[in-house]
Amino acid sequence: LGHEERDLALKTERKQVVGTNLSISYQKNLKITRGALQYLYDDKGDTYIDCVNNVSHVGHCHPVVVKTMQKQLVKLNTNTRYLHDSLVTYAKMLTATLPPKLNVCYFCNSGSEANDLAIRISRHFTKQKDVIVLDHAYHGTSTVAMELSPYKFDSKGGSGQQPYIHKGMNPDLYRGHYRYGDEHAGEKYAEDIADIIKQLSDKGTGIAAFICETLLGVGGQIPLPDGYLKAVYSHVRAAGGLCIADEVQVGFGRVGEKFWGFELQGVEPDIVVLGKPIGNGHPLAAVVLTEEIAAAFNNGLEYFNTYGGNPVSMETGIAVMNVISEEELQQRALETGNYLIEGLKKLMEKHVIIGDVRGKGLFVGAELVRNRETLEPAVPEIDVVVEQMRDRGFLISTDGPFHNVLKIKPPMVFNIENAASFLTNLDEVLGGL
Ligand code: PMP
Repeated sequence: LGHEERDLALKTERKQVVGTNLSISYQKNLKITRGALQYLYDDKGDTYIDCVNNVSHVGHCHPVVVKTMQKQLVKLNTNTRYLHDSLVTYAKMLTATLPPKLNVCYFCNSGSEANDLAIRISRHFTKQKDVIVLDHAYHGTSTVAMELSPYKFDSKGGSGQQPYIHKGMNPDLYRGHYRYGDEHAGEKYAEDIADIIKQLSDKGTGIAAFICETLLGVGGQIPLPDGYLKAVYSHVRAAGGLCIADEVQVGFGRVGEKFWGFELQGVEPDIVVLGKPIGNGHPLAAVVLTEEIAAAFNNGLEYFNTYGGNPVSMETGIAVMNVISEEELQQRALETGNYLIEGLKKLMEKHVIIGDVRGKGLFVGAELVRNRETLEPAVPEIDVVVEQMRDRGFLISTDGPFHNVLKIKPPMVFNIENAASFLTNLDEVLGGL
C-alpha cells in the first residue's frame, strides 16, 4: 500500500475505535512520526516547522528533558505519599518565579483538572458558588472547566450557561465594545465586570472567583488592554472574590518581557493555574496559591491525586525550567516574537486581508478580515492560508470566536530564521489568494 492508502485505512480504523467528535487538522492527512525541537517530520519524509504547539515549550523531544525523564523512569515512579526530593525541589523552583505570596503548590495532570481544583478551592474559601468568566474563553474539558468555558457551553452541542456562571465582555480592542485609541478601554471593560458584580450583589449573591487568561487564547490571541486586570481584580476583591489567572497557555516565559502573563498587567493573582508548557508535553499541571487560601482548603478533607506530583513529572518539570533558563528562552521569545510581530505588521501594509496584528513574545495573532471597516471575518480564506502554509512546511492554526485569527505560538526555540521564512511564505500565500 502507498502512503495515501495507508493513511486512509488508519483514518477509517480510527473512526471505528476512537470517539469521532475530535476533528483532525488539515484536509490532506498528516501523519507526524518524529519531532525534534521546532521541527516535525511526517511519514513521507517531509519536514515541518511547528508554529503552533505551545505545549512542546522548549521543543519537541528536547534531549535534556527526555534524558531526565528516562533516568527517573528507570528509578522510581510512584505517588506522593512518600517523601521525595524532586517534589519539594520543583515546588520551590516554581514558587521562586512567582510573587512571594503565591507559595503553596498543588500538582495535577492537566489544565482542566487544575482549573477545576482552583474553582473548588475558591468556592471553599469564599463560601460562594458564582464565578465570572470572559466571553469566548476556554478553560478545559472537565465538567467544571466546561461550565467556565463559553467557547464550549455556547457552541453547538454545548449545555448552555449555568445560572452561577457569569460572562464578562471579551476585552478585545480590535473588534470589541471599546477599541484601539481609547486610552481608558481597560477600565471601561473592567466596569463591565463591576456591573456583573453589582447586579449579583443587588440580588444578595456574592462571588467565589473571577477567572481569565492573562492573554486570551481561544478568545482570539488577545493581549489584555492596559489597566484591565488591575481594575478588575480590585472590583472582584472588593466583593470578596478571588482572582484566578489561567496561565496554561501563556505562562513560562512565552510572552518574552515577563515570565508570567499577569506580570504584564502589574497584578498579583490569588491563585495561578499552570499546565501545558510546564511538562513540555508530559501531563503536568499545577495550582499555586497563597498560604491563607491553602490553609482554608486544608479543612480535614484530604486532597490526593494518584499521578499529580509523581517523581517523573517533578523531574520533568525541573528539567523544563532548567532548559528555559540555560537556553535563555524567555529572552529568545522576546526577540523572535518582536521580529515576527514587526514582520506581520509590514505584511499588513501590503495585504488588506490582515486587519490586525497583536501579541506579546511568541504568543501572536493576525486577524484576517474581508473588509477593514466592517471587520467581516475572512472565512474560509483563512483555511486556505492554513492549508497552503502546511504545503510549504509551516503548521499554523486558527482561533477566535469567528475562526479568523491566525494563531502563532511555536515552541520557544523557534528562531529568527524560522520567523523570516514563515513571513516570506505567508507573504506569498496571501499574495496568491
Ligand atoms: N486553560 C486554557 C487557557 C487552555 O487553553 C486549556 C487547553 N487548551 C486548558 C485550560 C485545559 O488544559 P488541558 O487540555 O491540559 O486540560
